[in-house]
Amino acid sequence: MNRKPIFAANWKMNKGPSQTEDFVKSFLSKLQGQDFPCEIVIAPPFVSLAKLADLLHSATAGQNAHAIQIAAQNCSEHDSGAYTGEVSVLMLREFFTHYVILGHSERRSIYGETDAVINAKMKKALETNLKPIFCIGETLAEREGGKLESVLRTQVTEGLKDLTEKDLAETVIAYEPVWAIGTGVTATSQQAQDAHAFVRSLVAELYGADTASRIRIQYGGSVKPNNAAELMACPDIDGALIGGAALEPQSFLEIIRNGTGE
Ligand code: PEP
Repeated sequence: MNRKPIFAANWKMNKGPSQTEDFVKSFLSKLQGQDFPCEIVIAPPFVSLAKLADLLHSATAGQNAHAIQIAAQNCSEHDSGAYTGEVSVLMLREFFTHYVILGHSERRSIYGETDAVINAKMKKALETNLKPIFCIGETLAEREGGKLESVLRTQVTEGLKDLTEKDLAETVIAYEPVWAIGTGVTATSQQAQDAHAFVRSLVAELYGADTASRIRIQYGGSVKPNNAAELMACPDIDGALIGGAALEPQSFLEIIRNGTGE
């Protein structure tokens, strides 16, 4: 199965509109003339979505720039109403947002998002054609306690509960071992490949072999220019979700270049 790799920058709570402008101008000038065989996605904070949308729109209108998709880092499971501080999927669609990161380990551990809440957000996103980047992953204690597979099974089963095959065709999974996020410790390519193959087998159990062979599973956790090629060479790894190393245009670009072998 030929799956198009997807490289997504998760900026977390970094880069307001002016820093977004600096990044995008520099990144686009470095990208110029290069057409990588992958999707490129940037997930800025909510307040920078409008700036990002404007900059990308004028870039693609003016020249044949590599298309860059916009992602949000979160969304509400509700449509509207008395939810102070929340942002709805319809609001996100106004900024040409294509993807939304859901179930990130920081949302799970810091903001207490449960599998049920994440599942409700997945459904809400898919209702409005916002494609979820659905994050899963185990803590170090869970891995060392032999619970890797049971943790991933619960997250996948509960997070994807009641979704259809059609929904899965719009979904990207990001396997992100919690112990590798922002720590500088990367899973070995064997650890990552084994976890990805297991996640794909779970999707096959739930949705059949065809859906499993089509779904893209990104790796996330301290991906850098110097480890991207080895990770991306694994048969079940279809791109990366990148935090720290995607804050600099040059290193994000080098991850894409090394990861796609271009
Ligand atoms: C992330 O935030 O999803 C992530 C993988 O971060 P980092 O690349 O910094 O480990």
